[in-house]
Amino acid sequence: MNRKQVLPEVELSATPHALRAVDFCALQTYHGEGRLSVGALPRVALELDISNPDDGFDWQIQTQFTANQVGALEQTLRLKLKGQASMTCQRCLQAFQYALNVERLFIFVADEAAADAYPMEDDLFDPLVSSTHFDLLALIEDEILLSLPLVPKHPEASCSTSPFLGIIEEPENPFKVLKNIKK
Ligand SMILES: [Zn+2]
Repeated sequence: MNRKQVLPEVELSATPHALRAVDFCALQTYHGEGRLSVGALPRVALELDISNPDDGFDWQIQTQFTANQVGALEQTLRLKLKGQASMTCQRCLQAFQYALNVERLFIFVADEAAADAYPMEDDLFDPLVSSTHFDLLALIEDEILLSLPLVPKHPEASCSTSPFLGIIEEPENPFKVLKNIKK
């Protein structure tokens, strides 16, 4: 196909509720952006041990249709995520804001079998099973979860534990203190 297809372009509604069911089987493209607080992302909230009202994630989505080598239309989705989450540094045990900034590309496929058959060596696109009620909120939440560090740490230079300070003393076990009082 040489000519660019002119398809209706639909703006995504940014409410969490609307993001839960988007029709990706329709021949139309989507774009949109918004911000999700941690409160709208219960699975992310579970991973964060500190609650900070400033935490949240800006998302941006754009889909497009392109013709592949055999002329079939393929639908791709670009997701950009930028935000911050308060976490506890596992080196110095102080709170810090983890800055998240990721961009992911996806391609829609017809069903689970096509997703399973999608070539693993394609490190540009990840397959998504298309649906008339696609849960974009769950996709955004999945990508935030995948992008959060397993062991959150300050950047070395700004961590308050420097190798020159030596080993941090562990706080005294409260039960031990209690035992001493009882004596
Ligand atoms: Zn630290």
